[in-house]
Amino acid sequence: MRLVTYQSDHGPRVAAVGRHGLVDLNRADNALPSCSKQLLANWAELKPRAEAALESGVGGVRESILLLPPILDPGKVIGVGLNYTDHARETKMTPPDKPVIFCKFPTAVRADGDPIVLPRISQEVDFEAELVVVIGQGGRHIRRARALEHVAAYACGNDVSARDWQHRTPGGQWLLGKSFDSFAPIGPALVTADEIAEPGNLDIQLRLNGRTMQHSNTSQLIFSVDFLIEYVSAVCTLSPGDLIFTGTPAGVGCARKPPVFLKPGDTVEVEIGQLGILTNPVVAEEK
Ligand code: ZN
Repeated sequence: MRLVTYQSDHGPRVAAVGRHGLVDLNRADNALPSCSKQLLANWAELKPRAEAALESGVGGVRESILLLPPILDPGKVIGVGLNYTDHARETKMTPPDKPVIFCKFPTAVRADGDPIVLPRISQEVDFEAELVVVIGQGGRHIRRARALEHVAAYACGNDVSARDWQHRTPGGQWLLGKSFDSFAPIGPALVTADEIAEPGNLDIQLRLNGRTMQHSNTSQLIFSVDFLIEYVSAVCTLSPGDLIFTGTPAGVGCARKPPVFLKPGDTVEVEIGQLGILTNPVVAEEK
């Protein structure tokens, strides 16, 4: 199922995309939650009801509504650095023997169609196509063999990065360079995990103004989704709606000669397997 969050007259609500258009699942069946996090937390149990609700077409939503980020306020936005060998090499880094884990602030999350806003205080804003994992049932010390049971959905993501802030601040911390507002667009929808047979075999590409800049496959991930969930949950509890940006393949702008950075008027598209196309225009921050 493909899930989005939209702005209703009474606040944000989850809707599913079906042959009748968008269906507000809670309006079709009030036993279903109106919030995507709660729905995904119990997705295995709620899926049959959600499918029936979608099929009924009751709770239809007009198409002109405002789409919000499919997960509005994730508790954690976890990033994985250097997780494709070709990308690690292009940035002159050794492919790591343990995952490089960092954080993006949740305020960076945006929807499909929302602008990526270039900060006045950065001159080197770059793109990174990434498979994003959405946690459903939470947990701590999740074993690799059962890790995919904790994945509720997948989405396309763009780990937008201000390279000047990422690399030229003291202490080697990537946090601020990765966390400017609008630097974590995801979408266009969440695609529930039951529809993705092989998360480790998805075509992934990024186009800048129609030109292909990155093209790879998630089979090239150094650390797979199940491994990452075991690794991170050894440290902290994963919660429903947490996002994991799983890393980007080669072709980022800062590794090119000459470098390519985002500029106002650009359009960035991330397309991954059957997850759809995440499209975001690029604008300058207002003075
Ligand atoms: Zn990244």
